[in-house]
Amino acid sequence: MSEQVYQRCLNPGCGATYGVDESYFACPACGDLLDVVYDWDRLEVPDSLGWFEKRWASRQNRLDFSGVWRFRELIPFCSDSYRISIGEGQTILQPNDGAAKYANCQADRVLLQYEGLNPSGSFKDNGMTAAFSHAKLVRAEHVACASTGNTSASVALYAHACGMKCSVFIGSGRIAYGKLSQALDFGAQTIQIQGDFDDCMRQVQNVCRELKLYLVNSLNPFRLEGQKTIMYRVLEGLGWQVPDWIIVPGGNLGNSSSFGKAFAELKQLGLIDRIPRLAVINAAGANTLYDLYEKQGVRWQGGQLNMKVIDDYYAQLNATGYRPHTLATAIEISRPVNLKKCLRALEICNGVVREVSDEEILEAKAVVGRYGLGCEPASAASLAGLKKLRAEQVIGADEKVVCILTGHQLKDPNITVTYHIENKGQYSNRPFEVENDISKVIEALQTASGSCCSGR
Ligand SMILES: *Cc1c(COP(=O)(O)O)cnc(C)c1O
Ligand SMILES: [Zn+2]
Repeated sequence: MSEQVYQRCLNPGCGATYGVDESYFACPACGDLLDVVYDWDRLEVPDSLGWFEKRWASRQNRLDFSGVWRFRELIPFCSDSYRISIGEGQTILQPNDGAAKYANCQADRVLLQYEGLNPSGSFKDNGMTAAFSHAKLVRAEHVACASTGNTSASVALYAHACGMKCSVFIGSGRIAYGKLSQALDFGAQTIQIQGDFDDCMRQVQNVCRELKLYLVNSLNPFRLEGQKTIMYRVLEGLGWQVPDWIIVPGGNLGNSSSFGKAFAELKQLGLIDRIPRLAVINAAGANTLYDLYEKQGVRWQGGQLNMKVIDDYYAQLNATGYRPHTLATAIEISRPVNLKKCLRALEICNGVVREVSDEEILEAKAVVGRYGLGCEPASAASLAGLKKLRAEQVIGADEKVVCILTGHQLKDPNITVTYHIENKGQYSNRPFEVENDISKVIEALQTASGSCCSGR
């Protein structure tokens, strides 16, 4: 292949390559995932990450303002004319001593990367800006996705910005209203399928094949290119120092896959001298990765995976009619499409996988709310996972840890309100009901213990 950028099949036994001007969500030769591959020797790449700081001074340029495209030399699959931005990636890395204390880490060792600040309120915008830029490159007119909610919200925003039609497939019932309200309000054609996310994922692939629609799920390798920038911004927030750990919730495993690719490339380019460790956290009710990686010992092994174990696992899920179940609906996925890429990322980053219960998620979410910026349930799996890995001594108290908060607190207010009103946990902060009478109100003010003061 003579091109500087191309797509390549993940399966080393196949290795087929395709141009970036083509659009597939599976290798036409063997059906495996595709990667975007760069011939870095023939591309112009800065010789230090500090070089990107010059972009801070030219924020009136929409691509320099974007938290994704200001790193465009590291995701160079199309020219500026195709790059679309709606101001994604203006996120912050927040040192959080409350979270550190909760997880039994030393103060100032824990930071929260808050992706809820993106235009649609979740990290998905990082990927969507890249996928839609590629969609423009291939002149797509109609995009589609399956979604547990956040993907649909993000797709709807970017489709509007690009003047494309969009169809989103959601499962019945299991979608948080904050997210559904966005997809509807942003004007997405919304198809509710009687089934769960895994069913929607299968249907949308069939439909995209049949009708030649452009698929924007994380099967799309260009989407993952955009999500690499979450790690670039983490490094930027740390003055280009590499942390010891990155902890991320795992659903369809696009984020974890893209983080591994980001670090492998930065290392290859000599832009970092070591790679942080990666912890991917499943919900216990949707724990395919945890089962396969930690219990069955499945490893990437340079692409020589033990497919039999994986195939048997899925056959078992089918045979028992297994349905994943967690209140962290964004990660309620039992057939993660990026499983193989995630296994590769775990190898690159010497990673670990853990599962956390819904109770642990709710508690960690309340802690993020109390001491941080708030987040949706799935996001809190990262802090719950940190607490677990600290208890197991896998992570040391003095190690520098970045937890990715994938989505905004207001995505799923029902769960938050229920937790507090129904006294579901030790951080519950119930409203105090009182008669409409000044003396009763004063009495209440003096006796009701606001949780913010009591710490209870
Ligand atoms: C999509 C999503 C996830 C899961 O991310 P993957 O990349 O699919 O593993 C986690 N949290 C939130 C809030 C999400 O929207
Ligand atoms: Zn192939």
